[in-house]
Amino acid sequence: MTFLTIRHLEKSFGPTRVVKDFNLDVEKGEFISLLGPSGCGKTTVLRMIAGFETPSTGEIRIAGAPVTDKKPNQRNIGMVFQAYALFPNLTVAQNVGFGLKVKGTPAREIAPRVEEMLSLIGLPDLGARYPFQLSGGQQQRVALARALAPKPQVLLLDEPLSALDAKVRVSLRNEIRAIQRELGITTIFVTHDQEEALSMSDRIVVMHQGIADQVGTPFEIYNRPTTRFVASFVGTLNTLEAQVLDPTAGRVAVAGTELTLGRALPAGKVTLGLRPETISLGREGCDSGLGGTITEVDFLGAVIRLRAEVAGQSIAFDTFNTSDKQPPKVGEAVTLGVRAADMLVIGA
Ligand code: ADP
Ligand code: MG
Repeated sequence: MTFLTIRHLEKSFGPTRVVKDFNLDVEKGEFISLLGPSGCGKTTVLRMIAGFETPSTGEIRIAGAPVTDKKPNQRNIGMVFQAYALFPNLTVAQNVGFGLKVKGTPAREIAPRVEEMLSLIGLPDLGARYPFQLSGGQQQRVALARALAPKPQVLLLDEPLSALDAKVRVSLRNEIRAIQRELGITTIFVTHDQEEALSMSDRIVVMHQGIADQVGTPFEIYNRPTTRFVASFVGTLNTLEAQVLDPTAGRVAVAGTELTLGRALPAGKVTLGLRPETISLGREGCDSGLGGTITEVDFLGAVIRLRAEVAGQSIAFDTFNTSDKQPPKVGEAVTLGVRAADMLVIGA
């Protein structure tokens, strides 16, 4: 059953519409990411769900009940912000118990709930500390515990990892997801980091200039992008201009070769997208080979990221390292193996 429903949500600040006809159905227990560049309206959507911002038009329902006209404290929502949102003058335990205290929960019920939350986040012994005595990662876990303590129906997370070090960020991704699964809490997670969204989400909403461009699983978003923006914002993408030779069969001339895509195409020119990891060195097992010259070699360890000049275009591609074979060198002539199935049609 749809647990959180958003219909035709819009927000204008003065004459500027920053959220445009935003629609979303979230299942109970689902983990959804809003992914998009800075300024595309992610926080504004989250703040409207929380009730901190009034929509210009549109409707939000939680568990079937309209909440659009309700105040934040009547919505039963937990929220975590980017950073430094703990009360500095309260202990960790007082921070975690804050929402319960505000709701008038008796002290004898607050203490065990706070303890339960602190063990959930893996910090059972830090209740007496103050925020400044914690690392950034620990502070964000406490912020999560504080949001979850009053048992909200929906958890909203606004870039909660972006102020942290890379290593902490990656381990907290897994921790947040594990806690979210354990509680089965419906969650909306805002991020501008595609890797975070791909690794954590059940589904991703890719946003662009106030619009939800595409909604789908990480697999769908990455492998079947429906707009040029989604294709280029999520992951690395080579774009190739192609001439359509046969629209019905989808036969194209591209990068000095001809290829049948097996999909109907518009007549004229199309733009194709090709992920670096779908291109192989040598044409074995591929539909066609593009002749090129290596211009860049980035030995990254597990993966070698290469760049080649092919019929006047620069194409990035990856190969896996093998310990018994040297990577190609700059200036070397190579064949790039491509498969028709990997060609994304991203524009006409
Ligand atoms: P994101 O979270 O994706 O970075 P925001 O939702 O914060 O984007 O902002 C979307 C756009 O709305 C931005 O252009 C921002 O400047 C503008 N904006 C956000 N809040 C306000 C406000 N209170 N008044 C005016 N403009 C705002
Ligand atoms: Mg934001």
